[in-house]
Amino acid sequence: MTARILVVDDIPANVRLLEVRLLAEYFEVLTAGNGPDAIETCENGKVDVVLLDVMMPGMDGFEVCKRLKSDPATSHIPVVMITALDQVSDRVRGLEAGADDFLTKPVNDLQLMTRVKSLVRLKSLTDELRLRASTTRNIGIEELLGRNFATEDTKPKVLLVDERKPSIERIRKMLRGSVELDVATDPNAGFFQAAEAPYECVLISTAFADFDALRLCSQLRSLDRTRFLPIILLADGGEEGRIIRGLELGINDYLTRPIDQHELTARLRTQVRRKRYNDQLRASVTQTIEMAVTDGLTGLHNRRYLDSHLETLLDRAVARRRPLSVMITDLDRFKSINDAHGHDGGDDVLREFARRLRKNVRGIDLACRFGGEEFVVVMPDTDGVIAEKVAERIRAEIAQMPFAVGTEGKTIEVTVSVGVSSLLKGADTVAALMKRADLALYEAKSGGRNRVVAKAA
Ligand code: GH3
Ligand code: MG
Ligand code: MG
Repeated sequence: MTARILVVDDIPANVRLLEVRLLAEYFEVLTAGNGPDAIETCENGKVDVVLLDVMMPGMDGFEVCKRLKSDPATSHIPVVMITALDQVSDRVRGLEAGADDFLTKPVNDLQLMTRVKSLVRLKSLTDELRLRASTTRNIGIEELLGRNFATEDTKPKVLLVDERKPSIERIRKMLRGSVELDVATDPNAGFFQAAEAPYECVLISTAFADFDALRLCSQLRSLDRTRFLPIILLADGGEEGRIIRGLELGINDYLTRPIDQHELTARLRTQVRRKRYNDQLRASVTQTIEMAVTDGLTGLHNRRYLDSHLETLLDRAVARRRPLSVMITDLDRFKSINDAHGHDGGDDVLREFARRLRKNVRGIDLACRFGGEEFVVVMPDTDGVIAEKVAERIRAEIAQMPFAVGTEGKTIEVTVSVGVSSLLKGADTVAALMKRADLALYEAKSGGRNRVVAKAA
């Protein structure tokens, strides 16, 4: 795992100490001796995690953290506050400043590495999503980043998997009011419960009489629906080996008993905040990709999608020696429909046409709006004879049933002309296939419209 860690401390010896340990784990290390330098480094460089000393002259760690978290350009960088004393008041202040995690001086090696690795992993997921969002030219991204903390008011839904009654009661009490908590006392039932409800974090106790909690962690990581569900392990003192195994399996964080309420809420909050942020990014990426390949008016795929997939479909057909056909449809005298019933009336016709088109092709057929009132359907595993029959069925379905336009129950007659072409044996190309379909369509138009012309293969 190569990642760049920024170590911020006003005492050079402290910086050096952390630097050496991080370098030994093959992290790249940047350093800063004061707050303003740290902020500048974060703004300029690719910092993956910040280890931030709280006590510094001038701008202290809380202030640095607050500034980093309020700037959309740096707010996604995880910040670990390093406090001199294990003081609850410091942790609370750190939380308010938006810190993602805490470490206490002197910094324990296992804690340092596990926290850093877990945050690096989260950060790389976020980075990938940010990159995808920006490469798909998502205009919503900046607004999304600004909304970083907007969703924090809803109580997170959390699942606790633990079989010891006293421990369950303690945790229930600690989280009362701040979390919507469900409990599963049987780990197998807990697994299904975690997969079935929209949990935002799962707390897993290691203290089962005859069940290995890590098995549950690995099951949750291998299931698609729970792959991104944050897992916090509740371990006992002396379970370092198990925690390390857990982190390798992909748990996100851990707490050691006796559990401190503030630490539990802080770690839980960090995981939930990250999950919500990444969920939002992921949803926006998915939405952007969908929008980029979908025609807004009809919901069919658009031309861009056709262009990127027809080549693949053709190559596959050639490789498998399977037939492939294409039809291009063009509504007849559509301009006069627009003229008589307005652009909105024309749009009604396009939507209804798309609906009938989709109804008359198979799921594996690729139906696209090619532009204006032209549509293309690519039909894998379909030879020219069958494709012509499909085209004829569509033509008849359009001509036989009048289309409704506007809201006053008016109906009009619509017809369509269709050109069909099929893949030739031997050398053929997407361009040639489309060209033949286009010529066939032209013949259908000049032959009187409301008809199908198929170019024999
Ligand atoms: P032909 O039978 O020869 O195909 O005649 P046509 O009038 O259908 O052909 P032409 O290609 O000249 O006109 C297509 C019209 O479709 C022109 C354009 O204004 C209209 N059009 C294109 N996109 C849309 C749209 O999204 N909505 C509406 N309502 N009309 C559109
Ligand atoms: Mg046209
Ligand atoms: Mg037309």
